[in-house]
Amino acid sequence: MDDDIVNDLTFIQARWGSERTLNSFLAREVGALCGLICGRDVAVPRVEVRPSFLARGLFGKNSRAAEYIPDDDSNTQPTIIMLPAACESREKARLILAHELIHHWEHTSDSPALDRYESHRLDSFVSSLFSNGEREQRWRGGHSRVFISKAALVANQLQVDLRNLLFE
Ligand SMILES: [Zn+2]
Repeated sequence: MDDDIVNDLTFIQARWGSERTLNSFLAREVGALCGLICGRDVAVPRVEVRPSFLARGLFGKNSRAAEYIPDDDSNTQPTIIMLPAACESREKARLILAHELIHHWEHTSDSPALDRYESHRLDSFVSSLFSNGEREQRWRGGHSRVFISKAALVANQLQVDLRNLLFE
């Protein structure tokens, strides 16, 4: 077996006991969080834990710990891909699932009109977290103002730090 895969399994076993425990945790959490974030009528994405070595090919060299793939012609079910690094702890996995589910919400709902004052406030908040304008532009390319304002609501509901929800 590939070294990377052995490392992934060791990591998962050390933190979760078994892959099965991890997978059933993720299935339970994605169901609960999807209802909360996207509403009851929205299809719950499938969650897949993929080996770390795939990250380089899949997510490019700025590899992230998770990715949301909407359903389209090539993918029949919305999917959240998690790397082992995203499953370091229950708290982290939950935070990352919530983040990816906000992408799912944005994809499946009619995005609501934004509160302009709130949106401006959040804009300043997000900008204050970046010291590098180019990096900020890149991040904003994948995270709209609608995403950010929904994240602020979700952070409140889940009682988590907005910053962690946006960037974890
Ligand atoms: Zn994102």
